[in-house]
Amino acid sequence: MKIGVLALQGAVAEHIRMLNQAGAEAVAVKKAEELRDLDGLVIPGGESTAIGKMMRKYGFMEALQPFAAEKKPIFGTCAGAILLAKEIVGQEEAYLRFMDTTVERNAYGRQKDSFEVSLPIAGVAPDFPAVFIRAPYIVEVRGAGQVLAKYDNKIVAAREGQFLAAAFHPELTEDSRFHKYFLDMVKEYREDKAPV
Ligand code: GLN
Repeated sequence: MKIGVLALQGAVAEHIRMLNQAGAEAVAVKKAEELRDLDGLVIPGGESTAIGKMMRKYGFMEALQPFAAEKKPIFGTCAGAILLAKEIVGQEEAYLRFMDTTVERNAYGRQKDSFEVSLPIAGVAPDFPAVFIRAPYIVEVRGAGQVLAKYDNKIVAAREGQFLAAAFHPELTEDSRFHKYFLDMVKEYREDKAPV
């Protein structure tokens, strides 16, 4: 199983380490052509406006359309969750729009810039250490989407088919259970496509 980590900005090395720890081969992806031989992709945290701009510039917006159409899973953490959303509060335009969600950026305010809490996450863990850094939250999950976790009554993790989003940073802990959950999704979709 080969997973790419979009390496335009943000916590790339940390995701690669976690994916390795969870049992997958992981590579940094800087060019759209490199998506071709991947089974799944992680879009890391960072600054969504900066990552979004570079994704446009380097052709990722187009290249990720067939990638998604082939049912390859994508996991967005923090800024990555913003890039996957259909709507962003206060912004005209969204980015990939793969998940039928609305997100709000920097939802926890300045006084709570970063913090860590233990959260139950459906299908992942009853006690996941969730690290929030200028985190967004998911205002609404629509359609086929499922809410996986809430904090402070706000949705902070969701899944919609092949897409997974977390408002926090599972790559900044020593706990690889969220990455394992993503790898199970990748396996599921690969087996679905495998010839019988
Ligand atoms: N606040 C950032 C944004 O809006 C996200 C922060 C993060 O990824 N840690 O893009």
